[in-house]
Amino acid sequence: MKTVGAKIISVVGGVAFLSLVGLIAFYTYHHEQSLLEQNRTNRLETVDSVIQGLDALMLAGSAGIAQSYADSLQNVTGFEDLRILRTDGHEAYRDNQTVMIVNWNRGEDVFTTRLHETSNRIIKSDDVYLKQMLKTQETVSFHELGNHGEDALTFLTPIKNQKSCHHCHGKDEDILGAVKLTTSLNTVNAAIRDTRMHAIWVLAISLSLLLALTYLLIRSTVIRPIQQVTHAMRQLTDGDLTQNIPVPGSDEISTMARCFNTMGRQLLNTYTGLQHEQNKLTTIILSAREGIVVTDSKRHIVLANPSAERLLEKRLEEIVTGGLLNLFNNPSLMQKLLIAKDEDSHHTVILLNGRHLSIYASVILSPQGKEIGSAAMIRDITEEKRLETHLRNLSYMDELTQLLNRRRMDELLTREAKLAKRHNAELTVIMFDVDHFKKFNDDHGHDQGDRVLTALGVAMKQCFRETDFCCRYGGEEFCVILPNTDLEGGRQAAEELRRHIEQMLVDGLTVTISLGVASMKVSEYPDPNVLIKLADNALYIAKKEGRNRVREAS
Ligand code: GH3
Ligand code: MG
Ligand code: MG
Repeated sequence: MKTVGAKIISVVGGVAFLSLVGLIAFYTYHHEQSLLEQNRTNRLETVDSVIQGLDALMLAGSAGIAQSYADSLQNVTGFEDLRILRTDGHEAYRDNQTVMIVNWNRGEDVFTTRLHETSNRIIKSDDVYLKQMLKTQETVSFHELGNHGEDALTFLTPIKNQKSCHHCHGKDEDILGAVKLTTSLNTVNAAIRDTRMHAIWVLAISLSLLLALTYLLIRSTVIRPIQQVTHAMRQLTDGDLTQNIPVPGSDEISTMARCFNTMGRQLLNTYTGLQHEQNKLTTIILSAREGIVVTDSKRHIVLANPSAERLLEKRLEEIVTGGLLNLFNNPSLMQKLLIAKDEDSHHTVILLNGRHLSIYASVILSPQGKEIGSAAMIRDITEEKRLETHLRNLSYMDELTQLLNRRRMDELLTREAKLAKRHNAELTVIMFDVDHFKKFNDDHGHDQGDRVLTALGVAMKQCFRETDFCCRYGGEEFCVILPNTDLEGGRQAAEELRRHIEQMLVDGLTVTISLGVASMKVSEYPDPNVLIKLADNALYIAKKEGRNRVREAS
């Protein structure tokens, strides 16, 4: 039973059916009882009149007429049987027994005896109903089968011995006989059947009317409003938040409809507000310079902005079908970023298609700790990286000569010493100093001196290999680190530079340099600064021996 209406109708129908059946059964029963009672009263009245007639005839001393009266009663229509009996169950007026008793009581032959006697027993002398009638001296009724096998009702009414009878019958007997009347109950039973049929019709019609009326009433007051509310609720769950149910009254269903309308309005307001917020957020995300990719709880990509397409150099469809893990074709790294425990570990920088991309990726958790989505943010930091490298280079550079500065030289010397140790290679250092530069400055000016130093830087870059490191050690002193180079190699390179400088013209002017070369296997000198010191010593010797020459550390 699916609908509320069907439930209400079935309950009301059940209750109405039981009530009507009870009511109709009650009235039918009483009607039947009254029919039976009326039948009984009619029959008893008949018996009474028979007895009165008999009394009158007997008092008139017309026993002969009484006999024919009794005979004629047998033929009365409407009765199955109507007889006058003696108290022993024999039919009266058929033998001389009573005549003789009466004559004896009167002391004279008042009544002549019959010539033809018959004995006709109607009821056994020990019949329970006869005995009961004699005992109670009241009419006894009982059912028996009629002549045609039908239900029949028999009355046994006592003929009482009254004062007027004592003259003939004496005072001893209280009852002189009985009238036995048997009537068929066919008519009464037919009337009862009719009553029952009427009752069934009344029941069917009343129940149908009652149910129809109840249905109409319930439909307009309960079923329709409930259907409206449920229909609106279904629409609401399907996403239509504009539902509004008419609220006609103030009963529970109307209250429910009113509450539903309020709830719908609030949901609509909240939903509209959320949609506005979402639109704002979407606009921000779509117009952001950062690439943003968002997934749902199953890691299906639900949003990827144009910047993500541009930075990843993939079309939206490729990004969506590839999934979050394949965003930059390194699923294991992406997975590591997503589930990282500390904030810093969600971040990394990758090189993709010549661009430096900063990637931040993380799963998004609900307050209960359940994964409700994930997001990745991609930022192009190529320019930042370039600037960073430029700045770092600047910090390593000597501005005047565009050579590496002293700080960088120290770092490189340490690094190259470690590498040489690892590869068991030789490391060579050349130190040189411009000869009589003080005087040069004095003669040509400090600016001219600077231009010479700049030209020296250019010359060094030309003379040494790309793998060598040319540094300005300070003032007009320079240093070159030559990895994988032995002392002889270093000396040759120094000599080549010396000759080159000797012949170099700067604004038509020349300078010379003095150089010291030192070489070692790092395993022999753990401190690389010793190499500088040795090269410097050799330089000092070169100066001392007349300048513009190369000297090797011993
Ligand atoms: P020596 O041959 O013994 O080296 O003689 P020197 O005059 O070069 O002596 P020293 O090396 O002690 O002199 C260094 C001079 O180099 C002092 C200074 O005037 C000059 N100098 C140092 N740094 C610079 C610089 O950046 N620009 C210019 N123009 N001159 C510098
Ligand atoms: Mg010097
Ligand atoms: Mg000098």
